[in-house]
Amino acid sequence: MDDCLFCKIVNGEIPCSKVYEDDMVLAFNDINPAAPSHVLIIPKKHFPNFVSADDEYILAIRNAVKIITAQLGLDEKGYRLVFNTGDDGGQTVHHLHCHILGGRFMEWPPG
Ligand code: 5GP
Ligand code: ZN
Repeated sequence: MDDCLFCKIVNGEIPCSKVYEDDMVLAFNDINPAAPSHVLIIPKKHFPNFVSADDEYILAIRNAVKIITAQLGLDEKGYRLVFNTGDDGGQTVHHLHCHILGGRFMEWPPG
């Protein structure tokens, strides 16, 4: 996807602060953090959202969540995973991404 911001991050055209990478996914710090820890995990292949992704990428995201939350020390106190989807979901970048938010108490419901 030529005009996709996150595809540009995957192919190195736009830099990121990398947290984790494997064959399937890349994870990096959000440029505008909403919590002390705010990491985005993205598949290296373009999918517009969670439900359109191949299952193997969903599993790869889950694996990355496990590794990154342990790495950041979030696994004991907890964290929030968010997949904003579509306009009402507040999705602004239309390349599947999983937000990991942690390091503070997360209010519910979100705004
Ligand atoms: P969404 O609102 O689509 O769920 O989340 C998109 C996220 O991408 C936002 O939290 C936003 O701060 C982040 N973001 C947008 N542009 C960039 C960028 O160029 N670099 C990084 N690291 N994060 C970005
Ligand atoms: Zn993309």
